[in-house]
Amino acid sequence: MPEQLATIVELQQALDELKEAEELLGGIPEWMQELHEEQSQRKAVIDGLAAEVEEAAQANRAAETEINDLRERVKHFQEQIALVRNQREYGALLQEIDGAKQQISTFEEEALTALETQEAASGRRSEEEESFKELDAKYATELEKWEAQKPDVSRKAEELRSRIEVLSERVPQQTLSHFERVRSHRNGQGLAAVHEVVRGKGPKIWHCSGCNYRVRPQVVVAIHTQGSIEMCDSCKRILYLPEAAG
Ligand SMILES: [Zn+2]
Repeated sequence: MPEQLATIVELQQALDELKEAEELLGGIPEWMQELHEEQSQRKAVIDGLAAEVEEAAQANRAAETEINDLRERVKHFQEQIALVRNQREYGALLQEIDGAKQQISTFEEEALTALETQEAASGRRSEEEESFKELDAKYATELEKWEAQKPDVSRKAEELRSRIEVLSERVPQQTLSHFERVRSHRNGQGLAAVHEVVRGKGPKIWHCSGCNYRVRPQVVVAIHTQGSIEMCDSCKRILYLPEAAG
Protein backbone atom coordinates (compact mmCIF):
# COMPACT_ATOMS: atom_id res chain seq x y z
CA MET A 1 0.00 0.00 0.00
CA PRO A 2 1.30 3.50 -0.80
CA GLU A 3 2.87 5.12 2.23
CA GLN A 4 0.44 7.97 2.75
CA LEU A 5 -2.59 5.71 2.67
CA ALA A 6 -0.87 3.16 4.89
CA THR A 7 -0.21 5.92 7.42
CA ILE A 8 -3.87 6.89 7.44
CA VAL A 9 -4.92 3.26 7.89
CA GLU A 10 -2.53 2.98 10.81
CA LEU A 11 -3.77 6.29 12.21
CA GLN A 12 -7.38 5.13 12.10
CA GLN A 13 -6.40 1.91 13.84
CA ALA A 14 -4.60 3.78 16.62
CA LEU A 15 -7.56 6.13 17.05
CA ASP A 16 -9.94 3.17 17.34
CA GLU A 17 -7.72 1.52 19.93
CA LEU A 18 -7.41 4.76 21.88
CA LYS A 19 -11.18 5.20 21.92
CA GLU A 20 -11.55 1.66 23.23
CA ALA A 21 -8.94 2.25 25.95
CA GLU A 22 -10.54 5.53 27.01
CA GLU A 23 -13.99 3.97 27.19
CA LEU A 24 -12.58 1.17 29.28
CA LEU A 25 -10.90 3.60 31.67
CA GLY A 26 -14.10 5.58 32.03
CA GLY A 27 -16.28 2.58 32.80
CA ILE A 28 -16.37 -1.07 33.72
CA PRO A 29 -14.60 -3.73 31.65
CA GLU A 30 -16.75 -6.21 29.80
CA TRP A 31 -15.69 -9.16 31.95
CA MET A 32 -17.06 -7.30 34.99
CA GLN A 33 -20.23 -6.00 33.39
CA GLU A 34 -22.59 -8.79 34.43
CA LEU A 35 -21.37 -8.81 38.01
CA HIS A 36 -21.51 -5.03 38.10
CA GLU A 37 -25.17 -5.04 37.02
CA GLU A 38 -26.14 -7.71 39.51
CA GLN A 39 -24.33 -5.89 42.30
CA SER A 40 -26.02 -2.57 41.41
CA GLN A 41 -29.46 -4.15 41.23
CA ARG A 42 -29.13 -5.92 44.56
CA LYS A 43 -27.74 -2.77 46.11
CA ALA A 44 -30.74 -0.80 44.80
CA VAL A 45 -33.13 -3.32 46.40
CA ILE A 46 -31.38 -2.92 49.77
CA ASP A 47 -31.40 0.86 49.46
CA GLY A 48 -35.11 0.73 48.60
CA LEU A 49 -35.86 -1.35 51.71
CA ALA A 50 -33.82 1.01 53.88
CA ALA A 51 -35.89 3.91 52.54
CA GLU A 52 -39.09 1.96 53.29
CA VAL A 53 -37.93 1.35 56.89
CA GLU A 54 -37.16 5.03 57.33
CA GLU A 55 -40.47 6.13 55.85
CA ALA A 56 -42.46 3.79 58.11
CA ALA A 57 -40.49 4.94 61.15
CA GLN A 58 -41.33 8.52 60.28
CA ALA A 59 -45.04 7.68 59.89
CA ASN A 60 -44.94 5.95 63.26
CA ARG A 61 -43.32 8.94 64.95
CA ALA A 62 -45.82 11.33 63.36
CA ALA A 63 -48.77 9.24 64.61
CA GLU A 64 -47.27 9.05 68.12
CA THR A 65 -46.90 12.83 68.20
CA GLU A 66 -50.58 13.25 67.26
CA ILE A 67 -51.59 10.75 69.96
CA ASN A 68 -49.63 12.66 72.62
CA ASP A 69 -51.19 15.97 71.60
CA LEU A 70 -54.69 14.48 71.68
CA ARG A 71 -54.08 12.94 75.11
CA GLU A 72 -53.09 16.41 76.36
CA ARG A 73 -56.33 17.78 74.96
CA VAL A 74 -58.40 15.08 76.64
CA LYS A 75 -56.67 15.87 79.93
CA HIS A 76 -57.41 19.55 79.46
CA PHE A 77 -61.10 18.87 78.75
CA GLN A 78 -61.36 16.60 81.77
CA GLU A 79 -59.97 19.36 84.01
CA GLN A 80 -62.61 21.72 82.64
CA ILE A 81 -65.47 19.41 83.67
CA ALA A 82 -65.14 20.66 87.26
CA LEU A 83 -65.75 24.21 86.02
CA VAL A 84 -68.91 23.68 83.95
CA ARG A 85 -71.90 25.81 84.91
CA ASN A 86 -74.70 23.92 83.15
CA GLN A 87 -75.75 20.75 81.39
CA ARG A 88 -75.15 22.23 77.92
CA GLU A 89 -71.51 23.05 78.67
CA TYR A 90 -71.10 19.62 80.22
CA GLY A 91 -72.52 17.92 77.12
CA ALA A 92 -70.28 19.95 74.81
CA LEU A 93 -67.17 18.95 76.80
CA LEU A 94 -68.12 15.27 76.74
CA GLN A 95 -68.51 15.52 72.97
CA GLU A 96 -65.03 17.06 72.63
CA ILE A 97 -63.54 14.31 74.78
CA ASP A 98 -65.30 11.64 72.75
CA GLY A 99 -64.09 13.11 69.47
CA ALA A 100 -60.49 13.31 70.69
CA LYS A 101 -60.60 9.71 71.91
CA GLN A 102 -61.87 8.54 68.55
CA GLN A 103 -59.01 10.36 66.83
CA ILE A 104 -56.57 8.75 69.25
CA SER A 105 -57.72 5.27 68.30
CA THR A 106 -57.40 6.11 64.59
CA PHE A 107 -53.82 7.32 65.11
CA GLU A 108 -53.06 4.28 67.25
CA GLU A 109 -54.03 2.07 64.34
CA GLU A 110 -51.88 4.13 62.01
CA ALA A 111 -48.92 3.90 64.39
CA LEU A 112 -49.32 0.15 64.64
CA THR A 113 -49.57 -0.33 60.87
CA ALA A 114 -46.46 1.81 60.40
CA LEU A 115 -44.61 -0.21 63.01
CA GLU A 116 -45.54 -3.49 61.33
CA THR A 117 -44.44 -2.14 57.95
CA GLN A 118 -41.17 -0.98 59.48
CA GLU A 119 -40.48 -4.36 61.05
CA ALA A 120 -41.31 -6.29 57.89
CA ALA A 121 -39.11 -4.06 55.71
CA SER A 122 -36.34 -4.20 58.28
CA GLY A 123 -36.47 -8.00 58.31
CA ARG A 124 -36.36 -8.17 54.53
CA ARG A 125 -33.46 -5.75 54.46
CA SER A 126 -31.45 -7.92 56.87
CA GLU A 127 -32.08 -10.98 54.73
CA GLU A 128 -31.07 -9.15 51.57
CA GLU A 129 -27.95 -7.76 53.22
CA GLU A 130 -26.96 -11.19 54.42
CA SER A 131 -27.23 -12.78 50.99
CA PHE A 132 -25.61 -9.72 49.40
CA LYS A 133 -22.39 -10.13 51.40
CA GLU A 134 -20.96 -12.88 49.23
CA LEU A 135 -21.73 -11.09 45.98
CA ASP A 136 -20.39 -7.83 47.32
CA ALA A 137 -17.14 -9.45 48.42
CA LYS A 138 -16.75 -11.05 44.99
CA TYR A 139 -17.42 -7.69 43.40
CA ALA A 140 -14.81 -5.99 45.59
CA THR A 141 -12.24 -8.61 44.54
CA GLU A 142 -13.00 -8.16 40.85
CA LEU A 143 -12.91 -4.40 41.23
CA GLU A 144 -9.50 -4.66 42.83
CA LYS A 145 -8.32 -6.82 39.93
CA TRP A 146 -9.58 -4.19 37.49
CA GLU A 147 -7.93 -1.37 39.46
CA ALA A 148 -4.65 -3.29 39.20
CA GLN A 149 -5.05 -3.51 35.41
CA LYS A 150 -5.92 0.14 34.94
CA PRO A 151 -2.34 1.50 34.93
CA ASP A 152 -1.51 -0.79 31.98
CA VAL A 153 -4.49 0.46 30.04
CA SER A 154 -3.55 4.06 30.90
CA ARG A 155 0.00 3.46 29.71
CA LYS A 156 -1.29 1.95 26.48
CA ALA A 157 -3.58 4.96 25.93
CA GLU A 158 -0.61 7.26 26.49
CA GLU A 159 1.46 5.35 23.92
CA LEU A 160 -1.40 5.49 21.44
CA ARG A 161 -1.68 9.27 21.88
CA SER A 162 2.02 9.71 21.05
CA ARG A 163 1.69 7.32 18.13
CA ILE A 164 -1.32 9.26 16.82
CA GLU A 165 0.65 12.48 17.06
CA VAL A 166 3.57 11.03 15.10
CA LEU A 167 1.31 9.53 12.42
CA SER A 168 -0.74 12.73 12.10
CA GLU A 169 2.42 14.69 11.36
CA ARG A 170 3.18 12.39 8.44
CA VAL A 171 -0.15 13.06 6.73
CA PRO A 172 -0.40 16.26 4.63
CA GLN A 173 -2.39 18.95 6.42
CA GLN A 174 -5.21 19.10 3.87
CA THR A 175 -5.77 15.34 3.92
CA LEU A 176 -5.60 15.26 7.70
CA SER A 177 -8.19 18.05 8.01
CA HIS A 178 -10.52 16.18 5.69
CA PHE A 179 -9.99 12.95 7.61
CA GLU A 180 -10.74 14.68 10.93
CA ARG A 181 -13.82 16.40 9.56
CA VAL A 182 -15.28 13.12 8.28
CA ARG A 183 -14.39 11.38 11.53
CA SER A 184 -16.32 13.94 13.53
CA HIS A 185 -19.42 13.27 11.44
CA ARG A 186 -19.03 9.52 11.00
CA ASN A 187 -18.69 8.14 14.49
CA GLY A 188 -14.90 8.39 14.47
CA GLN A 189 -14.47 6.58 11.15
CA GLY A 190 -12.67 8.68 8.53
CA LEU A 191 -11.61 5.70 6.49
CA ALA A 192 -13.43 2.97 4.58
CA ALA A 193 -12.27 -0.11 2.73
CA VAL A 194 -13.33 -0.66 -0.86
CA HIS A 195 -15.03 -4.01 -1.34
CA GLU A 196 -15.46 -5.81 -4.58
CA VAL A 197 -19.01 -7.03 -4.95
CA VAL A 198 -18.90 -10.67 -5.93
CA ARG A 199 -21.36 -11.53 -8.68
CA GLY A 200 -21.63 -13.37 -11.98
CA LYS A 201 -20.20 -12.32 -15.30
CA GLY A 202 -19.85 -8.72 -16.37
CA PRO A 203 -17.64 -5.82 -15.24
CA LYS A 204 -16.45 -5.70 -11.64
CA ILE A 205 -18.32 -3.56 -9.13
CA TRP A 206 -16.90 -1.97 -5.99
CA HIS A 207 -18.64 -0.57 -2.93
CA CYS A 208 -17.59 1.66 -0.03
CA SER A 209 -17.66 -0.48 3.13
CA GLY A 210 -18.66 2.56 5.16
CA CYS A 211 -21.89 3.43 3.37
CA ASN A 212 -22.28 0.82 0.61
CA TYR A 213 -22.25 3.45 -2.10
CA ARG A 214 -20.80 2.43 -5.46
CA VAL A 215 -17.11 3.29 -5.97
CA ARG A 216 -16.22 4.19 -9.56
CA PRO A 217 -13.69 1.83 -11.26
CA GLN A 218 -11.34 4.70 -12.12
CA VAL A 219 -11.17 5.57 -8.40
CA VAL A 220 -10.16 2.01 -7.59
CA VAL A 221 -7.54 2.10 -10.34
CA ALA A 222 -6.19 5.43 -9.08
CA ILE A 223 -5.82 4.10 -5.54
CA HIS A 224 -4.30 0.87 -6.81
CA THR A 225 -1.79 2.30 -9.27
CA GLN A 226 -0.94 5.74 -7.85
CA GLY A 227 -1.88 5.32 -4.22
CA SER A 228 -3.85 8.54 -4.50
CA ILE A 229 -6.09 9.81 -1.74
CA GLU A 230 -9.63 9.32 -2.94
CA MET A 231 -12.85 9.74 -1.06
CA CYS A 232 -16.22 8.05 -1.25
CA ASP A 233 -18.64 10.08 -3.37
CA SER A 234 -21.32 9.61 -0.74
CA CYS A 235 -19.91 9.48 2.79
CA LYS A 236 -16.60 11.25 1.93
CA ARG A 237 -14.52 8.72 3.85
CA ILE A 238 -10.99 8.19 2.51
CA LEU A 239 -10.93 4.92 0.60
CA TYR A 240 -8.34 2.15 0.72
CA LEU A 241 -8.03 -1.29 -0.84
CA PRO A 242 -7.80 -3.91 1.89
CA GLU A 243 -6.31 -6.61 -0.38
CA ALA A 244 -3.23 -4.44 -0.73
CA ALA A 245 -3.08 -3.91 3.02
CA GLY A 246 -0.50 -6.57 3.74
ZN1 LIG B 1 -18.98 5.74 1.64
